[in-house]
Amino acid sequence: MADCLFCKIAEGSIPSNKLYEDERCLAFYDIDPQAPVHFLVIPKAHIDGADVLTEENADIVAHIFTVIAKLAKELSLEKGYRVVTNVGEDGGQSVRHLHFHVLAKRSLAWPPG
Ligand code: AMP
Repeated sequence: MADCLFCKIAEGSIPSNKLYEDERCLAFYDIDPQAPVHFLVIPKAHIDGADVLTEENADIVAHIFTVIAKLAKELSLEKGYRVVTNVGEDGGQSVRHLHFHVLAKRSLAWPPG
């Protein structure tokens, strides 16, 4: 998608603080961290958000969750972490490209505000 920030980060035309990359997804640190560890994992192929997942395009979600589990081990997040995907206006989604926030290294309130 020509005008999508995370597509540009995925293709490398906008720089990011990259944590992990493979042929299907990219993990990079959030520019405005909400926890001592806060990174995002995105599919390289554009998907608007979790609200447009289908049987045809949802395999990437399982892949991303296995990548998150691997990164959590590498980053020693044994005390736990939170995976969040915001959807739409009420969900607080500001970038319309599917992404999973991973937040860790502090106690996270529940329910969220
Ligand atoms: P959301 O509000 O759930 O759509 O999440 C978008 C996230 O992207 C926010 O936490 C932003 O801080 C983060 N963000 C925006 N621009 C960048 C960027 N250039 N590099 C890294 N993270 C970004």
